[in-house]
Amino acid sequence: MPELPEVEMVVRTLRPRLVGQRITKVESSGLPLRRPIELRALSRACVGARVEAVRRIGKYWLIDLSNDHVLLGHLGMTGRLLFAAARDPREPHTHAVLTLGRGVELRYVDPRRFGVLRTYTQAEAPRSPELSVLGMDPLEPGFTVDHLQAMLDDSRRDLKAFLMDQGRIAGLGNIYVCEALFHAGLSPLRRANTVGRARGKKLHAAILQVLEAGIANRGTSFSDYVDADGNQGGNQHALWVYGREGEACRNCGARIKRLTQAGRSTFYCPKCQK
Ligand SMILES: [Zn+2]
Repeated sequence: MPELPEVEMVVRTLRPRLVGQRITKVESSGLPLRRPIELRALSRACVGARVEAVRRIGKYWLIDLSNDHVLLGHLGMTGRLLFAAARDPREPHTHAVLTLGRGVELRYVDPRRFGVLRTYTQAEAPRSPELSVLGMDPLEPGFTVDHLQAMLDDSRRDLKAFLMDQGRIAGLGNIYVCEALFHAGLSPLRRANTVGRARGKKLHAAILQVLEAGIANRGTSFSDYVDADGNQGGNQHALWVYGREGEACRNCGARIKRLTQAGRSTFYCPKCQK
């Protein structure tokens, strides 16, 4: 599932090809994503508008339009945004198509249909059901050690659940949470309010480190993820614990373990993480 670094790569590859383009037509497959695609509202917001900016909040991508509207999306589990020539056949599971100038289309492809595609006015967007519930994006300047520490001190949940909670930190998912906990030397089972100041600072640094490395490696691709140019990332080769159950820890040699928390696999080193 795409997390912050993957969505950041999608945004970075969309931006140079999309900004300044005018949207001339919008189509949908008629099949619902996590919620139905409201084609009428989508067309009203997009057709005739020019793309002014492409940005990201947590795992959401946002396309700012010249008419004061914003197109907001989430890739869900398997969503991809791809540029294609209008004459090229549409691949299966293409659920939305934006027609741009010069015979180019931006296509949203999503086999499992857990994604989101909505339009709002700029004023509505921060209050939308998608964005209003999000905590701070960890790459925002406001995500400081003190901000993280205050949230840790305030929570009795285990660290895995704490870091996965989009209402606290927007953008982390299973892969980068496992990796950040490893680099901070913290057990995924430890309660948030027992972390303390010194380890809180380490956790803050580890979160930024794994996200920045993920972006530098152009995202993590296990199966579906590709950027808007269709390229896979390389961060799957740089992981220390995620997906490495039974393999040797690169730090201490112990076997990496897997456990299930809230229905999701957690990978960790029982020796390095306390
Ligand atoms: Zn270890």
